[in-house]
Amino acid sequence: MDPLSYNSPAAILEQTASQLGCSPVDKKLAFHLDEQDGLRHFKDCFHIPKVKHLPSADTTLVNGERDSVYLCGNSLGLQPKKVKTYLDEELDKWATTGVYGHHNGKRPWIFGDECIVDLMTDIVGAKKEEVALMNGLTVNLHLLMLSFYKPTASRHKVLLEAKAFPSDHYTVESQIRLHGLDVQKSMLLVHPREGEETLRTEDILSIIEKEGVSIAVILFSGVQYYTGQLFNMPKITKAGQEKGCFVGFDLAHAVGNVELYLHDWGVDFACWCSYKYLNSGAGGLAGAFIHEKHTHKIKPMLIGWWGHKVTTRFQMENELELSSGINGFRLSNPSILLVSALHASLEIFSEATVKALRKKSVLLTGYMEYLLKHYFSEDKTNPENPFVKIITPSCVEERGCQLSLTFSLPIKTVFEELQKQGVVCDIREPNSLRVAPVPLYNSFEDVHRFIEILGSALAVAKHPSSDGKLCNASC
Ligand SMILES: *Cc1c(COP(=O)(O)O)cnc(C)c1O
Repeated sequence: MDPLSYNSPAAILEQTASQLGCSPVDKKLAFHLDEQDGLRHFKDCFHIPKVKHLPSADTTLVNGERDSVYLCGNSLGLQPKKVKTYLDEELDKWATTGVYGHHNGKRPWIFGDECIVDLMTDIVGAKKEEVALMNGLTVNLHLLMLSFYKPTASRHKVLLEAKAFPSDHYTVESQIRLHGLDVQKSMLLVHPREGEETLRTEDILSIIEKEGVSIAVILFSGVQYYTGQLFNMPKITKAGQEKGCFVGFDLAHAVGNVELYLHDWGVDFACWCSYKYLNSGAGGLAGAFIHEKHTHKIKPMLIGWWGHKVTTRFQMENELELSSGINGFRLSNPSILLVSALHASLEIFSEATVKALRKKSVLLTGYMEYLLKHYFSEDKTNPENPFVKIITPSCVEERGCQLSLTFSLPIKTVFEELQKQGVVCDIREPNSLRVAPVPLYNSFEDVHRFIEILGSALAVAKHPSSDGKLCNASC
C-alpha cells in the first residue's frame, strides 16, 4: 500500500477544516469534501433507494422524497442503472434469435463469463488465467477445498478465524467430515485475546509458527464480516507457506472494498461473491482464483463439460481435455442474466479503479470515525451519556470501509430508530451495527447525515418516550 495516500484521515480533516475556517464537525466540511471528490459523479450510475420506498421508514419523521442514507453496501450493493439495459439486451436477443444467442451479440452466451473476466482480474490483482466466474461463493469454496485440502495423518488441520462467517465455518466442518476426520481435532480456530474483539496479526502468525506443520490449509477472510477487520493477507500467506500450508482467502467483504494483489502475494486460492461491494444483485455470479504456480499441479476433483477446453468442448467425444488452472473447475454454462448484471457493475469499477476508490474510502470512513468519536465517545465523568464503541480497528491498514459499532444502549432500539429515519444499515448478532460508507455511491454528506440521525436515535433509545426529532449532535 502507498503510505502517502493513507495519511491519517483525522489530520487531513483537521487541516482542511482549518483552511475553511470551520470546525471539522461542521457540515461545511462535508460539502467541501464532496465538491473536491473526483469520484462523486459515480453516484449517478446507481439507483439510490428513496426514503418512501423503505419498508421501515417513517415519513412523518423524514421527507419520503429524500434519498435514503444507504450504508449497507457491505451486505448488498446498490443496483447500477445499466443492469436493466444489459439484461434487456440479452432478453431481447433470446426473444428474437433464441439459440443463436450462444454465438452472437455483445456477450455470446457460450463466452458469457469469459467476456467479462478481464474486468474482474484487475479488481483482485490476478492474471486472466487465474480467475473464473462461476457458481456462488460457498460452492466455489467447497470446490477449491476439495482440491487443496488433502489431509494426511500428520498434516490434517484447517486454520480459520473463530467466528468466521457461518458458511465458511460449515464448509470447513463438512470438508473435515468428508475425509472421515474429527472436527474437534482438525479444525483450529484463532480467537481474539480476552477482552478484545479483533485478532492481532502477531497472534495469527504465532499459531502458524507453532502449529504450521500440522496445518493443511489456512482459510481466512480478507475482511472480517462482523468486525470489519482487514487481515494482513501477504503476511499470513507468507507465514503459512513457509510452514508448507496452502493459504486461501474468502474475499466476500474485501473484493471491491480494498486493494488486492492475489498474484503478487502468492495466495494459493481465493473465492468471493459479487453482490456485496461489487453490486451484481442478490445471488450474483461468484469468482474464484487459483495462483498460476498451481496451473499444472492442482486439478479439480469434480468435473463438468465447462471445464473442457472450449476448442474441442462441443465435439462431444467424452475424452476430457481439461482447461488448466481455475478454468478447469468450471462445471456448467454460466447464467447470462448473472453475467449481464455483473458486467454493468464491473465496467464502473474499471472506470473508477479500486485504487482511487480505496483512497476516497479511507477518508470517507475516517470521517465517519472522526464524527463518531467526537459526538459519541464514552464520557467517564458523565456515565449517563450514551456512547458508541467502534470495534473495527482504527488503523486504516487494518480495515476497509465498514465500521462495526456497539452501543451502551439497547442496539435494537437504536437500529429501529435509524431505520425509521431513512438510514439503511444492518445489525449482526450478538450486538454489532455495521455501517459501510461505500466510495462509489456514498458522499461525505451521507456520513454527516448518518451522524445527525444517530444522535437522535440515541436520544430516543435513552428516553424511549421522546419523538426522535430531538438531535443531540447539534450539527
Ligand atoms: C456473504 C458471505 C458468504 C455468503 O455465501 P454465499 O455462498 O454467497 O451465499 C459467505 N462467506 C462470507 C465470508 C461472506 O461474507
